[in-house]
Amino acid sequence: TSRALEVRGLSVTFATRRGPVPAVVDVDLQVARGELVALLGESGSGKSAAARAIMGLSDRNATVGADTLRLGDTDLLSLTEQGRRRTRGTRMAMVFQDALSALNPVLSIGDQLGELYREHRDMSRKQARAASVDLLAQVGIPAPDKRVSDYPHQFSGGMRQRILIAMAIALRPELIIADEPTTALDVTVQAQILELLDSLRRDLDMAVLLITHDLGVVSEVADRVMVMYAGRVVEAGSADDLLSRPAHPYTEALLRSVPRADRRDATLHAISGSPPSPANQPAGCPFHPRCEYVIDLCRTSRPALTPLEDATARTAACHRSEEVRHATV
Ligand code: SF4
Ligand code: MG
Repeated sequence: TSRALEVRGLSVTFATRRGPVPAVVDVDLQVARGELVALLGESGSGKSAAARAIMGLSDRNATVGADTLRLGDTDLLSLTEQGRRRTRGTRMAMVFQDALSALNPVLSIGDQLGELYREHRDMSRKQARAASVDLLAQVGIPAPDKRVSDYPHQFSGGMRQRILIAMAIALRPELIIADEPTTALDVTVQAQILELLDSLRRDLDMAVLLITHDLGVVSEVADRVMVMYAGRVVEAGSADDLLSRPAHPYTEALLRSVPRADRRDATLHAISGSPPSPANQPAGCPFHPRCEYVIDLCRTSRPALTPLEDATARTAACHRSEEVRHATV
């Protein structure tokens, strides 16, 4: 497998009236082609800020730093703003949660998709329309040759999300970042959209970075998972191993807060206490005020993200990760 996205030492700091607020701190992240990696965390954990920084779509008051930021063989850090924009339009794309506001309400779906093809693929109007119909079929829109003339408001929420995915894959990007793409949808439709993303990344050999707060989503489609807490990655590894044998108390608590047969309903809010504000983080381990495993050391010393002894490509940032890993949940 070839590496589509390579991120090292990513940080995002917001300038606020009260001073700089670190939202993302020293995050490493890789996604291979054909791979689906989930970035899991509560709202405010920094996952969306990280995603936007990778896309080059950070807010104006954000300062982004990274040691490495590569898309395939391209060093994104060395590109001009224009080069970045072109890359974003063609080789990497983002799918947002709110399809209605991401689509243009006064253009038909065919016109919006056709614009992409005419601009980047030099197609005629007729060719672009035919390609748009094919694309709508590919993302599972029924009667695409008719619906291509419809406007965004004429579609259901799930169908609109499919259209957003169609726009994202239109130019065959190497990487898609999907930020809570199913959160606004009901459970059945959620599953269908996940299935679509899952099959597209295989068929098109795309890398997918899926941002979510939903453990059900993760267990359904992710190859690997990175758990973020207070702006940092606190645990990472293959989805199977991480979900069955967590090594960080936060991940363990997430898993325990969900009835196993019905994980889909889970949100991360079932853990007692709330995540720290990035502006005001506790000393030592940022999870210590909420942690059932807390010891004195945790209040003064922040654990580094460290490889686990018994599994390859598994890491956790916890002084007691081996004990947590071997505890029966
Ligand atoms: Fe809990 Fe300590 Fe591990 Fe932090 S380092 S997660 S407080 S046991
Ligand atoms: Mg978010």
